[in-house]
This record gives sequence, structure tokens and C-alpha cells, in this order.
Amino acid sequence: MTQTISINDSQRLQLQPLEVPNRLLLGPGPSNAHPAVLQAMNTSPLGHLDPAFLALMDEIQSLLRYVWQTENPLTIAVSGTGSAAMEATIANAVEPGDVVLIGVAGYFGNRLVDMAGRYGADVRTITKPWGQVFSLAELRTALETHRPAILALVHAETSTGARQPLEGVGELCREFGTLLLIDTVTSLGGVPIFLDAWGVDLAYSCSQKGLGCSPGASPFTMSPRAMEKLQKRSTKVANWYLDMNLLAKYWGSERVYHHTAPINLYYGLREALRLIAEEGLANCWQRHQKNVEYLWQRLEEIGLSLHVEKEYRLPTLTTVRIPAGVDGKAIARQLLIEHNIEVGGGLGELAGQVWRVGLMGYNSRPESVDRLIEALEQVLPKQ
Ligand SMILES: *Cc1c(COP(=O)(O)O)cnc(C)c1O
Repeated sequence: MTQTISINDSQRLQLQPLEVPNRLLLGPGPSNAHPAVLQAMNTSPLGHLDPAFLALMDEIQSLLRYVWQTENPLTIAVSGTGSAAMEATIANAVEPGDVVLIGVAGYFGNRLVDMAGRYGADVRTITKPWGQVFSLAELRTALETHRPAILALVHAETSTGARQPLEGVGELCREFGTLLLIDTVTSLGGVPIFLDAWGVDLAYSCSQKGLGCSPGASPFTMSPRAMEKLQKRSTKVANWYLDMNLLAKYWGSERVYHHTAPINLYYGLREALRLIAEEGLANCWQRHQKNVEYLWQRLEEIGLSLHVEKEYRLPTLTTVRIPAGVDGKAIARQLLIEHNIEVGGGLGELAGQVWRVGLMGYNSRPESVDRLIEALEQVLPKQ
């Protein structure tokens, strides 16, 4: 047999060694990985059952408990992006027929609705205009009405830039025998989180936003209360890859092969978490807050206005209103091509109305703000 398909047949292939533009990623994620994280990832893989790798997995678990402020034994990284960890919470917590109440105030609330429905949940929703948050009184009324097995809320709605306050929500859920599930994809590492003090039962995140790592290894955690529900299931978890009964045997003391972990991503995640521990979690939160306040001030100085009320604005993601008569997409494209800066556009209700500017992880620095403002001053039409 001789080969019949030649690589040269494809006119479009330019087989040069890999070269990618050097962008400053100030969109909704990914953010630029910390140089030390890239260095850690650029290391030879170990076997997924090598004792040195198992020790690294233990370190990831301890560090994740620290950044989430939880003592949950089942705290791991899911192999996949944030959406995989999101699906892991739903797949393990939801049994067909369970009433799942979801707070929808943006794009990711809707993704939870879609996922929960696919796992057979009886999905109920409460909604808010994009950019607003639910009050404790509104959540109480909804729990009284729906009596759900699970309440799911997005802590940091990346599509709107709003932070959902969680104080008191856990106690409320306990009154109704409801598990509390929280999306912390754009909050972990950048926004204060106290999972145990807040009574959160299930949470997930990603590696490429506030943690300053590349995408692909995503934090997941489950409280003893949520474990109890998992153990009482009468049906198997419908997703084999994300079944915590199986994954717990790999991450726990049994060390049973489940799948080949993305070894180098775990190196990166471990290094990203170590950097946060070195900086100190509270300092890391403060850095995000300080730099975002600088961003807000500079944006307002050049005549731009912000979409979310100050009290509920995220330190990691800011929605900036596109001025009347300005082509938001064209400006974002100019920032990317002429200035190597990525910002995001609006999604759903906010499409065409806002830019989304992220200051996450390694990118939360005054230099990022200065570069963006300088570039905006060049590309925005003069008033
Ligand atoms: C980014 C994001 C996700 C999805 O994470 P991926 O890593 O893109 O799969 C889920 N929820 C929120 C709030 C996000 O910002």
C-alpha cells in the first residue's frame, strides 16, 4: 500500500512551526496564564498512577480547599473545562424527577437550565434582568413556591458582570431541605468565597479565569450533605466520565485507574494554586478589587459608563456600555488586531450593548489597565 493522501494537497496548510500572536487576554476568559504556570506545564508527563503524581493530586485537593474555604473531603479537579465541572455537579446531584430551581440572570444560568433538563430534572426558574441579582427575600419566596431539591445560582455571572450575594442563602436552603449549588467559574481566586460558612453544597470552577492557568482542569467540590444524596440515589449517575463514585476512587485512598488525567494541566493548576497560596488568598482578592477599581475610574475618565450597579460589580469582569453610534464589534476587532488586546462582546440580552473586560488572575495588574485605556483612547472615535 502506498499513501494516497498527501499533506501537500491541502493548499491551506502552512506547515511552519507553531507561532501564536502575543495577546493580552482581557476578555471573559481565558486570561493569560502566569509565566510560572506555563513553565510548570512545560515539563515531561508522569504516569497518572506514579506516586509523585498522586502526591501532586493531593496537593491540588488541599489547595482547592484553601481557595474555596471548604473542608469538603471530595474536592478535586475535573478533567475538562468549567462546563465539564458544571455538568459534574448536575450529573451527580440530580436524579430524574428532582425539582431543580435555577436563578437565571444571564447566559450561564441558562446553561444550567439546559444541563439540568438533560439529566431529567423538573426545572423551575426565577429570572432577573441581565446585570441584576436576586435578593434573599426573592429567593425565600421561590423556595416556598417550588420546594426544590436543589437551588442553583451563578455567583459571578460572566455574561453580565454581576456578583450574586450568597450570605444567608445556605441557611435558607437548609430550612427547606434544599441543596445549594453555586457556579464559581469567574469568582474563584478573584472574589471572596467562603463555601463552608455560606453553606454551599456543590460548587465548580475552571482553571483559566481567576486562577491564571490554561483551560482544561476544573475545580469541583461536594459537601457531605450532597454526598449523602449521591449515595442514596436509586439510579446510576448517567455520565460515566463525571461519576463521582468512580472519580472518588482515583482521587481518594484507593487510587483506582479511571481515566488518564491531563497530567501537564494538573501541573499547571497546582502551580497556579501554589502562587495564590504564596500571595495569600486575602491579598489575592484585594489585588483584584484594587485593580478593578482603578479600571472603573480610568474607564469613566475617558467617558465610558458601566452596566452594573457598583455594589454588585465583579472584581474579575466588568461590563462597559458601548456608547451610542459606536460599532462595538469593530472596536473590539481593532483592539485585537492593532493592539493585541482581547476584550469580549455582549451575550444574549446584552449583545451589541456592552464590552466585557476581564481582569483575572495574572492579568489583574495596573499595567493591564493602562494598556487597555491607552489603546481605547486610540481606537474610540473622538467626542
Ligand atoms: C466560563 C464560564 C463557564 C464555562 O466554563 P468553560 O471553561 O468555558 O467550559 C461556566 N460558567 C461561567 C459563569 C463562566 O464564566
